Amino acid sequence: MCRAMKSCAVYRQFKIPLIAVLGILSVQAQVWAEPVVALGHVKWIHGSPDCSKGIDPPIQVFQRDKPTWVLRQNKCLSFEAPFMYLLLGDDRALLLDTGATDNPESFPLLTTVRSLIGGRSLLILHSHSHGDHRRGDTQFSGQTGVELVASNAASLRAFLDKADGTGSDRSIELGGREVIVIETPGHQEESITLYDSQTRWLLTGDTVYPGLIYVKDWQAYRESISRLASFAQSHELAAVLGAHIEMTDKAGEYYPIGTVYQPHEAPLPLSPEVLQTLATALAKANGKETVPLDELVVQPMNALQRTLSNVARFLTQ
Ligand SMILES: [Zn+2]
Ligand SMILES: [Zn+2]
Repeated sequence: MCRAMKSCAVYRQFKIPLIAVLGILSVQAQVWAEPVVALGHVKWIHGSPDCSKGIDPPIQVFQRDKPTWVLRQNKCLSFEAPFMYLLLGDDRALLLDTGATDNPESFPLLTTVRSLIGGRSLLILHSHSHGDHRRGDTQFSGQTGVELVASNAASLRAFLDKADGTGSDRSIELGGREVIVIETPGHQEESITLYDSQTRWLLTGDTVYPGLIYVKDWQAYRESISRLASFAQSHELAAVLGAHIEMTDKAGEYYPIGTVYQPHEAPLPLSPEVLQTLATALAKANGKETVPLDELVVQPMNALQRTLSNVARFLTQ
């Protein structure tokens, strides 16, 4: 239903094509309407059978509401196709993650974000320090009005230590919009989760998403999921949103790593209940075997994977 006259008019004008438009909304088409397409029904760009003939934009831009944007990178640029979240406050904007590609010509993230934040200053955080969530940093580095918190442990620690908060949770004020930062190591040392008070979204990066989730530190991961499950009991949550989609639309089935065309992928949002389900499953798991749920699959890294992860991390610290 459209409640405001302006958005009613927009909705009527675009009634049929709007669903399609929202699916491939380009940066130029900054039409806002009531969220007639619930996030779970968004048709995300999902790669192409032949990327040399792909016609999708490099970045899909979905406007959930006036100050809330979800961006997805095209799978033909990187099979990782990460999601990025842009939250606008009255004073400044927060971008979570910068994608898997540095080249601004093939992946124009800076110009896209600038066109959406309306002159606000920009704070950039990372869900963790894996390359597919920070390669776009080079586009923002040294730009006026941008505070880029590097994804390495020292920079994250320095940022969190000066933010407000108690315990391991920290609060960021964007101007009429509070975001809570929860440290959730396990998938990777620097993994954090954000809670947006406005949408009541829990943005979990690669800690919880519909896909095959590799876990580097099993004990830390188990504690992090337990912490998130507790958080979900003490806060109102609308959805759990991660940084990738790898599951198909069949329960427990995922696309193999490296897939660049996912015509039958699962929806992005996970129900908050998945946190308790996962916490319960992890409590029974031995840390050596895969934990399969309908919505996602958790797999401990083997020794070789942990070594490779350590080397990659060392190079970024
Ligand atoms: Zn990752
Ligand atoms: Zn990732």
